[in-house]
Amino acid sequence: MTQWTITTLRIGELYLPHGGGIMRDPVHVWLVRGEVDGRQRNLLVDSGMSDIPVIRQRLKVGGVGGGHTALIAGLAAEGLTPDDIDTVIITHLHFDHGENLDLFPKALVVVQRQELFALIDPVPTQRPYYWKSTALHLVGRKPSELRLLDGDHDYLPGIRILSVPSHTEGMQVPIVTTAKGRVALVSDLGDHYRYWFPTDPRATPNPQRSLTGSFLTGNIRSESERDWQRAMHRVMDSTDIVIPAHDWRIPMRVPEQWFAIPDSMDGDISHQPPEPEAASA
Ligand SMILES: [Zn+2]
Repeated sequence: MTQWTITTLRIGELYLPHGGGIMRDPVHVWLVRGEVDGRQRNLLVDSGMSDIPVIRQRLKVGGVGGGHTALIAGLAAEGLTPDDIDTVIITHLHFDHGENLDLFPKALVVVQRQELFALIDPVPTQRPYYWKSTALHLVGRKPSELRLLDGDHDYLPGIRILSVPSHTEGMQVPIVTTAKGRVALVSDLGDHYRYWFPTDPRATPNPQRSLTGSFLTGNIRSESERDWQRAMHRVMDSTDIVIPAHDWRIPMRVPEQWFAIPDSMDGDISHQPPEPEAASA
């Protein structure tokens, strides 16, 4: 069995309205590297967000980073160019997870068939998050550069993809086997640790006893809360640790860093709001 390594690339931040203030959410993609049958494989999980000026124009949301520049720089820091990426697994096609696919014309893009339909005709409340640019870069690919999945799929030895409709209709979560155990790149199925560990004071400033044995679910959803809970249980039953998409505390290198729950609240939603000049950057 291939033992994969995972490197987190932090490609920017979004400044989102939260409880009357502004929450800084980091935006990540993950580089998954390993050798299969003597061949080096470089996979990317998610392809990130657009440039901030585009996001600000469309969603009235600020931030830093994003676009081709941040992604190319992140890969370069790991000694890679976009051409070295052979596969891009997209968890879901929202603007902060599935943009920039034009950077990877030779890679195989792997996404749920249901998510492509969601991109073209989303539930009405998610229309702002699915962008035409994402659709054009996806459907403009050659058939050999796009694989649409119908449910769970063993993609490579040690990389299993779970279909978990919840946040979006075609949400999927790759489970990656490393030297220390299995890692679920859960994306926005629970985008901060507090969703996964809602009773644990290390994960959340407001532990909720009533959620013992279950999870916190998000507001942006295409499915029922019961479906979302079921999806999180299914992922938890299939993995050793989870890595949420928008938490500041996630490990940057796995398996070198290995933890199920961070040991400090530093970096949860209480993360400092941006300085005024950064906010207008
Ligand atoms: Zn997201």
